[in-house]
Amino acid sequence: MPDIHVITSFLGLQSHRVVRWKRHHKSWIELWLEYDRDTYRCPECGKSFRRYYDRPWVRLRDLDISRHRVYVWVSRYRVRCPQCGVRRVESRIARHHARCTRRFERWLFTLTKSMPVKDVSELARIDWRTVNDAEIQYIVGLLRKRDLNGIADLGIDEVSEKKGHRYLTLVTDTVKRRVIWVGRGRDRAVLKKFFKWFGNKWTRRIRCVVIDMHDPYELEIRKHCPRAALIYDHFHVIKPLIMAIDDIRRRLQSELPPAGRRYLKGSRYLLLRNRENLTAKQHIRLQDLLRLPANETLNAAYILKEDLRVIFRRQAPKQARAELRDWKHRVRESKIPELLKYVQMLDRRRFGILNFFKHRKTNGLSEGFNNVVKTIKKNAYGFHDWQYFRLKILGNCGKLEHGSIDRD
Ligand SMILES: [Zn+2]
Repeated sequence: MPDIHVITSFLGLQSHRVVRWKRHHKSWIELWLEYDRDTYRCPECGKSFRRYYDRPWVRLRDLDISRHRVYVWVSRYRVRCPQCGVRRVESRIARHHARCTRRFERWLFTLTKSMPVKDVSELARIDWRTVNDAEIQYIVGLLRKRDLNGIADLGIDEVSEKKGHRYLTLVTDTVKRRVIWVGRGRDRAVLKKFFKWFGNKWTRRIRCVVIDMHDPYELEIRKHCPRAALIYDHFHVIKPLIMAIDDIRRRLQSELPPAGRRYLKGSRYLLLRNRENLTAKQHIRLQDLLRLPANETLNAAYILKEDLRVIFRRQAPKQARAELRDWKHRVRESKIPELLKYVQMLDRRRFGILNFFKHRKTNGLSEGFNNVVKTIKKNAYGFHDWQYFRLKILGNCGKLEHGSIDRD
C-alpha cells in the first residue's frame, strides 16, 4: 500500500493533504483531503477566523492519474462572520458550485480551444454539460481578472455570426493584439453599447481607432472620441479594388464573343489572389492570360492593383502619399470605369487612408483570426447562443492570462 504522504506530494495541491484514499475497480480513485491551514477568511470583509461554522463535504473531479479517474472529497468551509453573517470561504481548489477542481477546469478549457465540447466530454469521460459549464465559468473568471488599463489604440471589425447575415462587432486592443469586447450587430447602437461599457474616462484617452470603411462605426466614433485619429484598415481599403477587378473581368467576359470567352475561363482565382500567393505554375498561367491582346484592359487593371498594394506597404508616409497621388493619376488616364469609381471612393475617404500611412496601424487581428473564428463556429455546433460564441472569441483571442489562483 502506498504511503499516504506520497499521494499528497504527487497530488500537488497546496495546503491540502490526503487523509484517506480508495481505489475502485481499477478504474477510479477517491481521495479525501484535509485543509492544512487553521484560519478561515470571510470572503466579504477579509477577516480571518480560527474556527469555521460548518463544512459540508463535496466530491470533485480532478485530473486523472494513470488512466484512473480521480475524485477528491473536500470540505466547503463556511464561517460565521459577526459583520457579514454565514459566508462560504473561498476555496483554492474549486469555484463555488463547481463539480470539478480549478485545474481540471483549466485542462477542459485548454482542450475546448481546439476541440468540440462533445469530443472533450468523451476524452475526459465527463458529461458534456460539465465541460460546457467549466469552459464558460473559466473564461468568465479570466475576464474578471483581465487588465484593461492604458488602452489607447482600438481596432473595430466585424465577423459573421451566421452565414451571410447577423454580425458581431469586435473591438480589439491593437497594441496587445487582443479582442477586448464583442457585441451583437454592426450598427451605431452596438458601438454605443461599447462606449458605455468602456466608460468616459478611458474613452477620452483613445488616440486612434482602426476601422473598416463602415459608416455607422465612423459616425459613432466621431461622436464619442472626436479627437481620435480614424484609420482605415489597409486590408479593407484594398478589398473593394479586388472586387472592382472582378467586375472588370465579368464585364469583359460578357463583351467577348462566345468563342473568345474561353480565354478568361478559370481566371478569377488567379486575378483575385495576391501575386505572392500564387504557385509558379499559376503565375505562368496568369502571365499568359494577361498577355493576350483581348485582355489589355484587364492587364492594366491588374498591374494597378498590385502597385497599390506596394504603396500600402511603404514605410515612409511622404513617399506613400506621393505614390498614391501618381497612382490615382494613372487610374484616371486608364479610363477604366470600375477603377474610376474606386478612386472616387478613395478621395471621399482620404483622411482615413492618409492616417494609415501616418500611423501604420491595423486592427490587431492576426491573419489566422478568421480561421480561429471558423473553428469556433464549427466546434460550437449545437450551441446557438451568441453569448457562448462571444465568450469563445474572448477566450481564444482575448489573450487572457491565467492568474495565480488557478495554479494550484
Ligand atoms: Zn465578513
